[in-house]
Amino acid sequence: MSESAFSKLNLAEPLARAVAEMGYESMTPIQAQAIPVVLAGKDVMGAAQTGTGKTAAFALPLLQRLLKHENASTSPARHPVRALVLLPTRELADQVAQQVKLYAKYTNVRSAVVFGGMDMKPQTAELKRGVEVLVATPGRLLDHIEAKNAVLNQVEYVVLDEADRMLDIGFLPDLQRILSYLPKQRTTLLFSATFSPEIKRLASSYLQDPVTIEVSRPNSTATTVEQHFFSVPEDDKRRALRQIVRQRAISQAFVFVNSKLGCARLARSLERDGLKAVAMHGDKSQDERLKALDAFKRGEVDLLVATDVAARGLDIKDVPAVFNFDVPFNPEDYIHRIGRTGRAGASGLAVTLVGPGDARLVADVERLLKRKLEIEPLEYEEDRPRGRINDGRRAWREQGDDEDRRERFEERRRESRQQAVDPFFDKPYQPPQREEAPAWEASGKPAGNRVSANIKPKRKVAALFKSQ
Ligand code: AMP
Repeated sequence: MSESAFSKLNLAEPLARAVAEMGYESMTPIQAQAIPVVLAGKDVMGAAQTGTGKTAAFALPLLQRLLKHENASTSPARHPVRALVLLPTRELADQVAQQVKLYAKYTNVRSAVVFGGMDMKPQTAELKRGVEVLVATPGRLLDHIEAKNAVLNQVEYVVLDEADRMLDIGFLPDLQRILSYLPKQRTTLLFSATFSPEIKRLASSYLQDPVTIEVSRPNSTATTVEQHFFSVPEDDKRRALRQIVRQRAISQAFVFVNSKLGCARLARSLERDGLKAVAMHGDKSQDERLKALDAFKRGEVDLLVATDVAARGLDIKDVPAVFNFDVPFNPEDYIHRIGRTGRAGASGLAVTLVGPGDARLVADVERLLKRKLEIEPLEYEEDRPRGRINDGRRAWREQGDDEDRRERFEERRRESRQQAVDPFFDKPYQPPQREEAPAWEASGKPAGNRVSANIKPKRKVAALFKSQ
């Protein structure tokens, strides 16, 4: 039996059956390391990118431990919330909840998901019926807590997933409030793509003697991803994208852009080019986003054009390619972006289109990856049509291009005036390593050695991080 076979875990039959049904052959490295630790009831600090199988790494052992509470009673009182999973975005919450449901399908453990942008009523009804595993985004969960729909005094397990992004988005005060409602005796699992000083501080405040698990080194990229950086003038990027899609016979891809406006505009112009593209960004309603995601999963959409936050953690396996139409503002997003391809052993392609003004952003990515990147020239298949009007169609296209250029110019001007119009979705680059105390310390919120009454007493964990 292989070292990483699921059967080594002695999972309860209903869970083992669900795993077998998912077609998983063996555990991924994060699963092999984290599952036994969670089964042993220890706190975990896990550095793992999305796509490493980390959802199952926490969901399976949590479900296994919750089986002792399993019951078929219809009384809500018999189904209090025992495990809480917090995530930064609606899509991610939805996907994690879907996975939890699949793993729990042969058990009587109930799960539900709550996130903003949706009517509270159906969520309330589900909460009132009682659920053992609650997956949530912080803001909406607080709404339910305030409305007394969610009672968290019997929570035994908390998962802070994509914790770095939750802090980036500014969820720290919400997290602190939520954690203050939970019993202090509990198991806390924190997953983050990187262990920044802020994350370490969060861990030292809320985790007790955590076991640190790192699967691929933070700031490294999956080895199965073929990465290319092509030098492309801004105005040729769309054409370059089309050409690479065609040359490589790419069936589906994520296309990342840095702004909402750029996202909508690019999807529109790719549609005009005859490609099936859809935009996913912060101005899209929740319903639109989920529909877009479903259409992509069903293969009805070829190119999902997305901003970083909107695409965060999208659970779509084996996307053949990822395009960085814009070099990301935040170099860590480069890693998140290309993590969408080459997952679970499949090889992937990541293409970054480097414009003339992107030198600083590329240098940031190089610093993060700790290697020099080769910027390749791109040879075009045919000469770019320049203003020659052949027929009505060409004229229409040229007009489209002009319109695009004007929009792009306007956008750059706006962005240079006011970088972060919407801090949630258009976060400008900020160096991740800050020396000064993080904001929540400055604001006098509990952290560090001053443990608030809401936080369970912790032992010193600083030593844990010394070796890193
Ligand atoms: P995650 O990192 O949790 O988002 O998982 C990424 C994808 O990998 C999900 O679609 C899972 O269904 C899949 N996955 C999780 N564990 C395994 C496994 N052991 N073998 C194959 N695929 C897996």
